[in-house]
Amino acid sequence: MELWYTEEQTENVRLSLKVKNHLFTGQSDFQKVDVFETFEYGKLMTLDGLVMVTEKDEFIYHDMIVHVAMAVNPEIKNVLVIGGGDGGTVRELMRYNHIEKADMVEIDKMVCDVARDFFPTISGDLDNPRVNLTYEDGVAFMKGKENVYDLIIIDSTDPVGPGEGLFTTEFYTDCFNALTENGILVNQNESPVYEQFAKEAIRANAKLRKIFPIVEVYSAAIPTYPSGFWLFGFASKKYHPVIDLKAEAWNNFGIKTKYYNTDLHKGAFALPTYVKEYIANGTV
Ligand code: SAM
Repeated sequence: MELWYTEEQTENVRLSLKVKNHLFTGQSDFQKVDVFETFEYGKLMTLDGLVMVTEKDEFIYHDMIVHVAMAVNPEIKNVLVIGGGDGGTVRELMRYNHIEKADMVEIDKMVCDVARDFFPTISGDLDNPRVNLTYEDGVAFMKGKENVYDLIIIDSTDPVGPGEGLFTTEFYTDCFNALTENGILVNQNESPVYEQFAKEAIRANAKLRKIFPIVEVYSAAIPTYPSGFWLFGFASKKYHPVIDLKAEAWNNFGIKTKYYNTDLHKGAFALPTYVKEYIANGTV
C-alpha cells in the first residue's frame, strides 16, 4: 500500500509527498511533531501537519535566512535566533568564527530533541558552546532587552498558534530596542502567492515599516513551502541590504554555500511587480 504525506497549503491546494516510513509522531505542549522518510525529499519534519524542514531543500531556507545579513554587516558578533528548533539557522551562523555568541530561544524542546535524533546534518550545532539554547516563548524573552544584539533572526512557524505573537508590532518593537545601533532583523515572511499567506506577509512588512528606518523584502525558491515562492523580511537600523552589501568581505570568508551567493543576493531583492505593488499598497 502506498503511503503519502499531504499538506493542505490552502483549501484548494495540497502538496503530497510519497512516504517510505512514518518515523516519529509526538504531541508537545505546543504542537504535534511528526517525522517522515520520503522518497524525494529525504526526512521531513512537520509541525501541526505543516512542512517545517526537509533534508533535500532546507539549505535554501537556512542559507537565505542567515547569509544575506552576514554579507551586509560582516562584523556581526552577537546574534539572537527566535525559533529555529531544527538547528539549521544556528548551523549556518556557527560557520562564522567571528560570531561570539548566538542566543537561541525555542519554545518547544521536543522540536530540538527530534531534530537531534532524526536530522543530525541539520541539528549538529544546537549543542555548540557558542550557542546558548533556552526553551521559552520568544515573545516573553524579548521583554526589556536593550542594545544587545547585532542581528535578530525570527525563524518561526506561521503566525498561528505559538508563532502568532512573533508577528506583532509589540514584539517587533521589543526587537528594535534589543538591537544595537547597527542592528538588523531578519524574519521568515511567508509567501505572496496565496492570498492568506500574502496578507500575513504584507501585514508583517507594514508593521516593520512603522518601526525600522530601512525595511526591504527578499525572496527564495523553496519547493516544499506553500507555492514554492517564499519571502524574507530585512529590517535595519542603518544598513541597506543592497547598497551596503559587502560582497568582497563576504567572499573572503570562504564559506561554501549551496544556494546563497553575492550575485543572487542582489537579485533576491529584485521583486516581481505584483509583490512590489502588494507591499507599496499594503493590500493584496
Ligand atoms: N522554516 C520553518 C518555517 O518557515 O515554517 C520554521 C522552522 S522552525 C522549526 C520554527 C520554530 O519556531 C518551531 O520549532 C517552533 O516551535 C518555534 N516557535 C514557534 N513559536 C515560537 C515562540 N513564540 N517562541 C519561540 N519559538 C517559537
